[in-house]
Order: sequence, then structure tokens, then C-alpha cells
Amino acid sequence: MIRVESLTRTYGDLTAVDQVSFEIGTGEIVGLLGHNGAGKTTIMKMLTGYLEPTGGYIEINGLDISTKRATVQRQIGYLPENDPLYYEMTVIDYLDYAATLHGVPDAERTDRIREAIAQTELSSKATDAIGTLSRGFCQRVGVAQAILHNPRVLILDEPTNGLDPTQVQHMRDLIRSMAEHATVILSTHILQEVQAICTRVIIIHDGRKVLDSTMDELLTGKRLQVAVDAKPERAIKMLSSVDGVVSVEPVSQRGPGNRYVLDLGNDGDPAEAAHIVASRIATEGWKLYALQPERRDLEQIFSEISAVEQAYSG
Ligand code: ATP
Repeated sequence: MIRVESLTRTYGDLTAVDQVSFEIGTGEIVGLLGHNGAGKTTIMKMLTGYLEPTGGYIEINGLDISTKRATVQRQIGYLPENDPLYYEMTVIDYLDYAATLHGVPDAERTDRIREAIAQTELSSKATDAIGTLSRGFCQRVGVAQAILHNPRVLILDEPTNGLDPTQVQHMRDLIRSMAEHATVILSTHILQEVQAICTRVIIIHDGRKVLDSTMDELLTGKRLQVAVDAKPERAIKMLSSVDGVVSVEPVSQRGPGNRYVLDLGNDGDPAEAAHIVASRIATEGWKLYALQPERRDLEQIFSEISAVEQAYSG
């Protein structure tokens, strides 16, 4: 569990993180999304206790990071943006060293290292020097050290950066399995990445939080699609009179019935509106062929995000 309140960080005159607040529970995989320089890395460094906030409050698993930093850090797995690996060390020696830093008890050390190597599919490289590994394998070593101590909070700065498509898939599976027992927060500047793996997205723009939404909310539009067996004039008149429906637009027919898209406005609730529409159609005695919230594609979401970002710029 992560709780952040009014988190702020300045560098001289620059406010890199500006009054950011959020709460993340166990089992959530939250994507911090933002352009280069938005403030994602700065937030992550503060969450892990490696950077002092200028203002605000961070609580990890109920502990105030400003007073319990060492305890908190033992509960966190952190993959930094540019993981400072020791290139002359072998993978296994490096993980042994990382286990010491994480305070893994001696009795558990061998098992934990073996498990982290298996989880990140590093067995074939375990005795290789880190300096001889490809970018993708180095990234896996970084993840192996982050999960070595079974952390309850996992903070991953651009975890799929530099990985090939197979490795990306594997990394996503690994993150999902880690999220069964941990709170996961990862950063990326790619919306597709968030869609593929995250349950929730927080968008950071110029250091500020401009959007915080579950992926389901983000992908479910504020429009309802309905297909009904009624004359268009009567259908449009009735549907327009439903509470919460802002406008009704006929769309080309696919399948049985006449199809309409109901715009519910910015504050619309598709589930509530669907319930009312269904009962009104039943009262009219019309046949209802389809009734579902419109799923938005990434293009539509991108333009909404750009609009939100523009509203916060300047
Ligand atoms: P990227 O996707 O490029 O990694 P980011 O969202 O992680 O970007 P940050 O690295 O957090 O962004 O940077 C936020 C802002 O703070 C940027 O304007 C950056 O130049 C500035 N910044 C970061 N670290 C420092 C520092 N040590 N000194 C001065 N400014 C800094």
C-alpha cells in the first residue's frame, strides 16, 4: 500500500513534481504515464527514499518514509531507470551482493537467489559477467535484484525499456505474478504498455497529476450503443428523453434492429444509463437487440489525454 499526499520536489526554480497525491492498494498495477521530463522518475526516487521531497508526505505499508526509511526500503523492490549494475561481477555474485543489501537472511539466501534467477529466466547467464550481457538481459538482472527479497511494494522505472517483444511479454507476465502479493507501480511513456499490463493509470504532466483512472474507466467511453426494434422517430424521441442522455445519434445498421449511440456527457455513468434505457425499452414493448457501453480505442484515449494535458499547460 502506497499513500502519497501533496508530494512536491523542486530543483532550484524548477518544480519537477507539484502537489501529487494518490493511494495504491495491494494487487494494483499502476502505470505512471507521462512524456520525457514529466516527473515520473523523480516521483519514483522519492517513493523509494532515494530522494528527499521538498514537500508532502509518503507512507508505504503504513510507515512514514521520512522517519522509517531503512525499514521501508527493505519492503521495496526498485528497478531504477539506469540500473547501476556492477559490470565486472557475474550475475550470481551480483545477486548475492544485492541479497546482502536487502537484508535477506543467510538461511534463505540461496533459495531466494535461485528463485529470482528462475523468475527472470537468467539461468543460462548466471555465471556470466554482467558486462557481457545484452541490454535485455541486463534489464532482467535489474529486475532479479528488485524481486530478490519478495518485496511488498515493487517500483519499476521503465521496466520494458530495451527489451525485445518476447522479453516484453515475459516481463509483463512476471510483473502480473508479482502483483498477486505486492503493490506495483511502473513508469512508462507508452500508453500501449499501460493498457497491456496496468489496472490503473496516473498521468503526470509538467510534474502535476492530470488524470487518475482505472483502465476499465478509461477504455469505457461515456457513450452507450443500443440496437432496438422501433421506428427511428419514436426511438430517438424516447431515447432522448432518458435521464442523463445528452444526444442520440443513429448509426449504420449492423445486425438486427436500428442502432443508436447515446452520448452521456462527461459525467455520464454508462451502467446507470443502460439500466434505465433497458427498462424504458421494456415498458415500450420494443425488442432490445444490443445495449453496451462503447469501448474506446487507444487513438481516442490519446486525444483525450492530449486535451487534458493542453488544458494544464501554460
Ligand atoms: P523521462 O521519461 O525522460 O525519464 P521523467 O518523467 O522521469 O522523464 P524526471 O526525470 O522526473 O522526468 O524529470 C522531471 C524534471 O526534473 C525534468 O525537467 C528534469 O530535467 C528535472 N530534473 C530531474 N533531475 C534533476 C536534477 N538532479 N537536477 C535538476 N533538474 C532535474
